[in-house]
Amino acid sequence: MSATRPDPIETPDNAFFWAAADRGELVGLRCADCGDLQHPPRPMCPACHSTRREEVKLSGRGRVRVWTIPRHPAPIGFAEPPIVALVDLEEGTRMVSNLVDVAPDAITPEMPVEVVFEPTVGGRAVPVFRPVSR
Ligand code: ZN
Repeated sequence: MSATRPDPIETPDNAFFWAAADRGELVGLRCADCGDLQHPPRPMCPACHSTRREEVKLSGRGRVRVWTIPRHPAPIGFAEPPIVALVDLEEGTRMVSNLVDVAPDAITPEMPVEVVFEPTVGGRAVPVFRPVSR
């Protein structure tokens, strides 16, 4: 089946994130001065206002905090509405993403998840999360 998921919208601040996703890696941005980890990427640390940033590799493991299924208007690029979730990553930051390989009624609060990557129409990759296999 060919990919229908839209390509990421790349900016100078998030290009490193999408380049890592293309390699199958989940990365974040940490302040090189105070160590605060932030997502989404931004040019200045909101905690100490430093512009010294460093890329860090993330484990890709976390827990589902909340989730929803946006049905109206119909999301572009999806045959079925995706499950949109806020995932608490084990490194302490959060990421809005999609849940895959799980039925909506099987999702539970704090459910452990791990990152996988789904292809886009233009051949890029997007990090999404699935339940941790037991
Ligand atoms: Zn900082």
